[in-house]
Amino acid sequence: MLKYGVIIDSSMIQNVFETDFKESFELLTYKMTLMSLFLGIIPSFIIYKINIKYPKNIFDYLVFYLFSILALAILIGVIFTQYKTFVSVFRNHKDIIFRIIPNNYINGIYQNIILLFPEKNVKMISSEASKNKNWEHHRRKTIFVFVIGEAARANNFSLNGYIKETNPNLIKHDIINFSNFYSCGTTTAVSVPCIFSSLDKSNFSKSKFKNNDNLLKLIKKSGFNTLWIDNNSGCKSACDDVETIEMESYITNNSNREIYDEEMLNIFKEFINKNNKDDLFIVLHQKGSHGPAYYKRIPKGFDEFKPVCKSVELQQCSSEEITNSYDNTILYTDYFLSKTIAMLKENKDKDTAMIYVSDHGQSLGENGIYLHGMPYLVAPKYQKHIPMIMWLSDNFTKDFGINRECMSKYIDKNLSHDNLFHSILDVLKIDTKAQKNNLSFFQNCKIK
Ligand SMILES: [Zn+2]
Repeated sequence: MLKYGVIIDSSMIQNVFETDFKESFELLTYKMTLMSLFLGIIPSFIIYKINIKYPKNIFDYLVFYLFSILALAILIGVIFTQYKTFVSVFRNHKDIIFRIIPNNYINGIYQNIILLFPEKNVKMISSEASKNKNWEHHRRKTIFVFVIGEAARANNFSLNGYIKETNPNLIKHDIINFSNFYSCGTTTAVSVPCIFSSLDKSNFSKSKFKNNDNLLKLIKKSGFNTLWIDNNSGCKSACDDVETIEMESYITNNSNREIYDEEMLNIFKEFINKNNKDDLFIVLHQKGSHGPAYYKRIPKGFDEFKPVCKSVELQQCSSEEITNSYDNTILYTDYFLSKTIAMLKENKDKDTAMIYVSDHGQSLGENGIYLHGMPYLVAPKYQKHIPMIMWLSDNFTKDFGINRECMSKYIDKNLSHDNLFHSILDVLKIDTKAQKNNLSFFQNCKIK
């Protein structure tokens, strides 16, 4: 909390449960270890060593606890007389509840433990899905790529007006950039399943997610050959029942070197060539702008913006250095996406398309807040306003009947992860009960 300005709620505890060694290790620093030792472990040990003489009868107990009882009485008295002030403070500073130690993490752990017990009488909702009759006219096979970014925020994309040129490659492609797009959560563990869920943000919960329609499963059911390639910390149950390749275990990584996002494209290319006769839906889950070690995310040659922060001790770097290292990761994502598009363009005999969306945004030290994961209600806009980019080949536009000019009406509309489930099923012309046309941003832009 002191170091990154985060606050501890149930989804932060969920992150603790779902992280891996490599990810969490990047967050630990020398200073933090010293702090835990001198302010945590040593004082605890001293307290543990104190020899407590317990009272023998009730009266002695009352005396023993006299100060505690007095303190409690004063506390209740203060709250009672200042009730109005307390209520308004809590109402105006909703984050306070997540800052009270140890109530915050005890409650967070409790919230996560109750999720382990399956709810009674929960019906599994699993709709049927099939390609609709328009597919009969398709002469070409389809390759649809869905890229899930990591911690990319809309503000730092020059496509959205950022002052630094962070999108020199994407700008050359004929892309559709949605400039007013928002995430479902502020962490990977919430946002990634939420993107694939039929549930909207207000109804989404991890426990409901597993019992509800899932985008990837429906697409697979309709007859697509599906693959999830993961260079992040897993798909958070979004790819259950779908073929998955985890880069970390796929690449024999004895040296523990960084695996760059573009390495996913080798597997991607192999998969396309091997499954030439299928309609393909491929998810690429990026490591993107995963912090705090931004400088590790990019291969040589992408450190365009200098000087950079070469430490995970973000507070020791200047704000300019942190932003520069972060912008270099955006520059690399720009390169990665345009390389993906270029590979799709090579498949001239296919209907190809790509959608890129980040899972959540990122704080770069504004108001002392770093990284992401603030409770949605109090999270700064930087953690929620995300980039969303779409590229459609001419073949795709033609066969799937999309009016491109019409799409431009949607680029500055307020849209969110909630729209993706419905839009993707809509554009791919998959019939399923789970899909709601009114949430699809393709809905009014189809050529009948
Ligand atoms: Zn994430």
